[in-house]
Amino acid sequence: MNTPSTLNPPQPPGSDWTNGGDALHFQHCRACANIWYFFRPFCPSCGDQNPPVKSSLGRGVVFTQTLVHRAPDAKFRELAPYKIVLVDLDEGFRIMAHGDKDLVIGDSVMLSFITLSDQKIPYFKKI
Ligand SMILES: [Zn+2]
Repeated sequence: MNTPSTLNPPQPPGSDWTNGGDALHFQHCRACANIWYFFRPFCPSCGDQNPPVKSSLGRGVVFTQTLVHRAPDAKFRELAPYKIVLVDLDEGFRIMAHGDKDLVIGDSVMLSFITLSDQKIPYFKKI
């Protein structure tokens, strides 16, 4: 019999950026070793329940990038043009974030955070 799952899995020390903290959390599966970014109460690959949550060290490589000239709303217009990147983190998952305007595919990057209109967002800088 499966144990009940929770929509809010236990968090490691340091709050995730989506909750206002300075950490980037991900999950991994003890049963099949799958790694993923968006929180789930189960492994999306094998269905194992209550996967642990870990904190990323924030190091990765730019998978792809684009420079946005037409911002979707007023709060992003103050940043335009701004860089959006997809970064493959060393732990084995990919996230979308903002980054330095001169980032190109293959650059090694480190995670930081910026605040935009009282909202913390992930931001990558070249290392
Ligand atoms: Zn699994």
